[in-house]
Amino acid sequence: MAGETGRCSSPGCTEPPIMVLRGTGERLCARHFTASVEGRVRQTVEERKMVQDGDVVVVGLSGGKDSTVLLHILSRILRDRPVRVVAVTVDEGIAGYREETVQTARAITAACGVEHVIVSFEDYCGSTLDELVRERPEHPCTICGVLRRRLLQNAARDLGATRLATGHCLDDEVQSALMNILNGDVRRIVRTGVPDAGAFVPRVKPLRDIPEKEVTLYGIVQGIYTPLPECPYAGEALRSDVRHLLSTLEYRHPGTMERTMAGYDRLRERVGGCVEGGEVSYCPECGEPSTGGLCRACELLGSLADR
Ligand SMILES: [Zn+2]
Ligand SMILES: [Zn+2]
Repeated sequence: MAGETGRCSSPGCTEPPIMVLRGTGERLCARHFTASVEGRVRQTVEERKMVQDGDVVVVGLSGGKDSTVLLHILSRILRDRPVRVVAVTVDEGIAGYREETVQTARAITAACGVEHVIVSFEDYCGSTLDELVRERPEHPCTICGVLRRRLLQNAARDLGATRLATGHCLDDEVQSALMNILNGDVRRIVRTGVPDAGAFVPRVKPLRDIPEKEVTLYGIVQGIYTPLPECPYAGEALRSDVRHLLSTLEYRHPGTMERTMAGYDRLRERVGGCVEGGEVSYCPECGEPSTGGLCRACELLGSLADR
């Protein structure tokens, strides 16, 4: 990175900078970079009213770098507030991958002094993801995503949570925004809420304004970054193409991701109030909220059992 020589831009600081903030050109040392990231997350949380006093915040903790950094920062910035933080890890049952990330999740919750709950696909539906995918090898990420969201929501509700926080960073959010546009998915573009807020624990994304590179660097600086094996199942094909496209654009035209996200947010404000669906119904199979008829989880598990 350019500009490692010299001093940190923070007034009076003589420490060597470890990075240059792309937006402002500030060169920051490890201590001031940490303070900058935590300050921006705090601002996002406050401005968007993501957490209020008295909240029970469940943090979805995969053990990967984004959710690990999220838990670390939230446990710091909420330390002095009357807020209960609980980490929930979903064990999908992916041999050779999940064991290690569960260990990392255990270590980080112990280090942060945060309660930790582990729930598994096997306890929920009697099968691991590896077993489910054997029945239907073409859609591992769909099966995994639907069940993971269900287990997180259920765990959050069982814990009496008022917020469900996930580790999505700026890159993830811009990728999703662009994918919605590329898919022509107007319903998702204008969706600003979920039907019947009472049926779902509202989700918040405190890292939504932090670029992935800074999330990674924060993890390294704080000594909580552990390189982990990649998930053995292939990710979504479109997302991976969009990721490459955006990293090229961001490199050649710095600030592209922030501008895209800000424009997307304004677009949603303009069409504001378009809450998806409107009314919520309940799945006849499991009794969980759904958007009509069988819920996605029962639909998937049913079609798996039919094989
Ligand atoms: Zn400094
Ligand atoms: Zn169901």
